[in-house]
Order: sequence, then structure tokens, then C-alpha cells
Amino acid sequence: MNIRYYSTNRNLDSVADLVPFKGTVTFKEALLQGQAPDEGLFMPFPVPALAMDDIMALKGLPYTAAAELVAGAFLDEEIHTDILKGIIAEAYNFPVPIERVKDRLYILRLDQGPTASFKDFAARIMARLMSHFRRPGERLNVLVATSGDTGSAVGEAFKGVAGIDVHILYPREEVSDMQKKQLDTIGDNVRAISIEGKFDDCQNLVKQAFSDPALAKYNLTSANSINFGRILPQIVYYVYCYAQLAVRGEEIVYCVPSGNFGDALGCEFAGRMGLPVKKLLMPTNANDEFPRFLKTGVYEKISPSRASISNAMNVGNPSNLARFFDLYGGTVDRTGKVHKIPDLDEMKRRIESVSVSDQQTRETIKKVYRDFHVILEPHGAVGWYGLESYLDRSADPALCVCLETAHPAKFPGELNDLLGFAPALPNSMKELAKRTGEPFFLSSGYPEFKRFLERHLMINE
Ligand SMILES: *Cc1c(COP(=O)(O)O)cnc(C)c1O
Repeated sequence: MNIRYYSTNRNLDSVADLVPFKGTVTFKEALLQGQAPDEGLFMPFPVPALAMDDIMALKGLPYTAAAELVAGAFLDEEIHTDILKGIIAEAYNFPVPIERVKDRLYILRLDQGPTASFKDFAARIMARLMSHFRRPGERLNVLVATSGDTGSAVGEAFKGVAGIDVHILYPREEVSDMQKKQLDTIGDNVRAISIEGKFDDCQNLVKQAFSDPALAKYNLTSANSINFGRILPQIVYYVYCYAQLAVRGEEIVYCVPSGNFGDALGCEFAGRMGLPVKKLLMPTNANDEFPRFLKTGVYEKISPSRASISNAMNVGNPSNLARFFDLYGGTVDRTGKVHKIPDLDEMKRRIESVSVSDQQTRETIKKVYRDFHVILEPHGAVGWYGLESYLDRSADPALCVCLETAHPAKFPGELNDLLGFAPALPNSMKELAKRTGEPFFLSSGYPEFKRFLERHLMINE
């Protein structure tokens, strides 16, 4: 199917200093550009459909089969099937466990990749697609803002990939020591920049660099959740998990602990491709701008974002909100200004969101371990709390799956305090202690960041 990508800002005709991008691009262009020329986010049209027969045929098959089905539906016009298969086989060399908690409630563990975070799923595909689509001889410069886990997943995914350099910006005070270590020590073509500021500052620096004409010659591209190449692989696990658990055709509730909303957007697209998603639950931490929006119809971003123990979700103005608004007929720009309200009733029919405090998160970790011997870390616990609060309100007997987005061993101090032991390290993390490396240190000012880029980036391979 011939799928094109348009900008979420295409209808902003009467906004000062903004020229809406009215055209469309291919997947390759959307992947390499990261965001649209008008700073909107790229959206696929049409969204390809999956047949229930094809979904159920994935039962018992490896994860790679689901990835081939979903990615193939989007990319069959732009990349040869065999090349795509090769990319998927290389990217997904780790297990994807589905853990039963009780009755028809499950945890989908997306924490077995090289950086023990669900972001490995998207980053590893995206890095390889970029390498495939890049013009030979031309260097790509990837800039990533991370609140913790994105950066290391992206960095590890790109490590050693020819012709691509990666710089990762993280907020110095908001990432854990282990996350710092993961980011600072990747090495090779991947460097970390420790920013004196918040995650939102890092995100703004990156966004400013992308729209700075003086930096255009560096072929800047993003690997943040604003890149559609990050969203596409995040559709796959919803389809895979459904095929493993469902009998056929029944509805499923997915609960996705949410920050920048890229993960949940994968579920939204899975539903639009034909997966029978009954509800998409998107619990947040103390950054409650979205649950408040669903309740009141008024969107107010939280700036600066609030710190919490589920730190990869400390986002006060989620990038992918623009995509959700677009899918429901609304428009919001990157500053969080709403230009057109989406169909709120329809949104509320399909999506629910609650804000979960750190205290509730901690109690959930203790309770789920006590009652079920299931170990959750703070992000997954925000998810589980959101699922339980939904079940309290609706007594829904449907099949329910909550995503665990990071490995509990990434939070040894917190879990030791709550459970009395630190979870065993996955193999990927055992190696970490031996690694060394230093980040660059910068303030959150744009001029300094720009000078840094002009000094460090290269144009040609
Ligand atoms: C990034 C991240 C999230 C939030 O995902 P979004 O796509 O930003 O909503 C949740 N948990 C962990 C561990 C993460 O790294």
C-alpha cells in the first residue's frame, strides 16, 4: 500500500511565524527528517489494516514474525521484504516474556533488550532503517533528548553503525546514577551531553537545533519519540501479545505507563489497524496534564515538568500529544497551544488516564510483590495502579495487559527500600560496571549548544 506522511501542523494557516507544511513525504523522508518542516509531527495516511486471520496466525510464532507483519504493512512499497526481514532478525535477538499475574491480567515485559528498557524495541529497528535509507557517503547526525532511558536505548542501537554519529542530551539532576553510567559509557560514535536543566530544556535545545538554518548542513535527525520510525516498531508488541493471549477476536485492554505518549500511540495505531482494543489506559505520574485534559477539556502543559520516581515519564508537555489530537480531529502545536479541540467524547470512549503519585507507585510495588510475587519497577507500577483503578471502576472481565517498560534491576535502591532486596541484574547490565566514559557538560542555553555542535559535528562520512 502506498502510505504517505503528512504534518500535524498542516492546518495552522493563521499562526504567526508558521508556514504549514501542506505536502506529504515517504516513510524514508519522514524517518530521515524526524519532524516536518513546520515543526509538526509526521502522520501516516492511510493507516494500513491487518486481517484477524493474519494476526491470529502469529500465535506461537517468534516475535520477529509479528514485526514482519506490522512493519511490512507500512513499508512494503519502500523496502524489500528480505532486507526488512534481515533488519528485524538482527534487532530482535532477545525474549519478550508475557507474565500472568492472575485471572486474565498479564504483564508484558519489554525489559529484556540491551538497555533493559522498552525503548530498545523501537531504537534498534530505527537505527538499522536509518542506516539502510541514508545516502552513501553522507553522514547523519542524530540528536536525542532523553529523560533517562531513551538515550541509552538509542545510543546502544546506533553504536558502531557506519556514517551515523549520535549526541545524547540528558538532564543532569534527573537521571539515576545507573542511567548516567549507561549514557556516558556507550562510546564509539555515541557521545553523551550532561545538561544543567530539566528534560524539557534538553528537548527544547534539540528542537531549536533542528529548526536552525545554520545547522542544516549537518543532516541533523532526531531519534526521539517524535520520529515516526520510533512509533512504528512500538505497534508490534500489542499485536504480538494479543495473538499469544487471545482466543480470537475478543477485546483487550492495554495499560501503558505514559510520558511522551509514543508507547501508547503504538497501541492507538494497533487499534486503528484492526486490533480489537477495548480501552487504552494511559496512567501518568505527577505530570497530570493529560488526565486533567480528559476531565476538563482544557489542556495546560506543566512547565517545568514535575520530578517523580518514574523519571522516564517526567514529561509536562508530551510530544506525541500532537499525534493523538490529530487522530481525534484536533490540533495542538509543540508549545502546547491548542488550536483545535479534538473530539473529546470519542477520546474518552477509547482512552482513560489517571495520575499516580509516588506514594501510590511505591505501595503498588509492595502490594504486587506481596500478593503475586511479581516484581515491578516504578514505571510498571504506575501502569499497574492505573489498571487496578480502571478495574475498580468498571469491573471489566476483559483480557488486560499492563506493560512493564523497564527492568526492576535498574532501580536497586528504590526496590531494596520497598522489598528488602535488589532484583538480580539481567545480563545486559552485568557488563555495565566495567565500562568507563565521560560526558560533555553544557548549560541549557541555546547559543552554547549551537557552538558545541558547530565544533563537534561532521558533514561527510
Ligand atoms: C520512555 C519511558 C516511558 C514512557 O514512554 P513514552 O513513550 O514516553 O510515553 C515509560 N517507562 C520507561 C521505563 C521509559 O523509559
